[in-house]
Amino acid sequence: MDLKELKGAVKKIVHNSGAKLVGVGSRERLKEAPPSGNMDYCLPGAQSCIIFAYPNPIEALESYFSKKERMSLKKVLHDSYTNAWKAAQNIAELIEKNTEYTTFPVIPNLKYRKEDKKAFSNVFKADIAYPDFSLRYGAVAAGLGHIGWSGNLVTKEYGGSLFLGGVLTTAPLEPDPMAEENYCNKCKICIKACTSGYPSMDEEENTQEVIIGGQKEIYSKRGTYTKCGISCAGLAGLSEDGTWTIWSPNHICLKKISSEDWQDLKVRQKIIVEILNNPSENIQKVNKELLKSFALAAKRENMALLSLEQREFPRCGNCAFICVSSPSKRAELYKMLTSSGKVYIDDEGKEYVKKIDENGNEITYYPPTLEEYFSKKK
Ligand code: SF4
Ligand code: SF4
Repeated sequence: MDLKELKGAVKKIVHNSGAKLVGVGSRERLKEAPPSGNMDYCLPGAQSCIIFAYPNPIEALESYFSKKERMSLKKVLHDSYTNAWKAAQNIAELIEKNTEYTTFPVIPNLKYRKEDKKAFSNVFKADIAYPDFSLRYGAVAAGLGHIGWSGNLVTKEYGGSLFLGGVLTTAPLEPDPMAEENYCNKCKICIKACTSGYPSMDEEENTQEVIIGGQKEIYSKRGTYTKCGISCAGLAGLSEDGTWTIWSPNHICLKKISSEDWQDLKVRQKIIVEILNNPSENIQKVNKELLKSFALAAKRENMALLSLEQREFPRCGNCAFICVSSPSKRAELYKMLTSSGKVYIDDEGKEYVKKIDENGNEITYYPPTLEEYFSKKK
């Protein structure tokens, strides 16, 4: 199989897995990228990265942001990671069986570099965590898009509302053209939809330069990593105006806690203890369950290997989910979020939503649980 045939066969596997975008990037384009763009860390001598994307369906996003239910997006997340990992392994098998080249299938999420003592397992202390290989840097090198203000990849076709998968290989495949434009229009809806304050509204990140294919990628300054970790885990998340939450019953606005407090490790730990020990016993129970689930997930070190039931996600992820390609749809999703009300938990541990409906009346309802959602679908 020559390199052209190989590239065609690889792309066929990707498309058959349900991915909508795929591209090939080169070692040359990643030579000035930060360390997590260094393919040699995973596969010495790697020449190419093959990166692919699974976009989120609009219907699932509407249900998620309006708080109708979060199970359809949970299923999308599950299928995307599972398919991305399977596709990566199938591509690796294809290349290694048919050529002399070697491969490294990239774990799509939850795998962080071990020698970095501040990695994910230490989420409450960490300011940053580095993946084995950054799929978003790879995606830029592979021509899928550029880094948006949120810090996520933004593509022309699907914005940043997608999941990525990838494979590294020593095969010198022909790279696809880089994306000509950055399709992030700086609407900052991603930042408005974030209750943690992790990405900055106006300040640019300046801790490390991200240069891919000779172009500098500009994105928002990140705060303390833990801020995002707490919200993303669903441990707390309330909007600054107090009118809506993420999918968490713990109504604490992390944005209101100063950056100085977050940076001081002792103060940070005190804040975290307060967050976890909400006076409500029901919320304490939820937080314990979430922590247990995340500890298990972190131990597994591969999001794609978690079952639908094991995985507590998604509870936030707003910055990426909301960034669909159409700016008007993005604004519509944001409007849905800001009028979606708050999540609560009852004495039996079931989550419910309280919100003001279009007639100005307060309504309360129980979104379907995982079991209810899937038994209805059958
Ligand atoms: S939501 Fe707007 S500002 Fe944020 S990454 Fe997407 S396009 Fe850029
Ligand atoms: S995942 Fe949630 S908390 Fe983290 S940066 Fe995105 S919106 Fe903010």
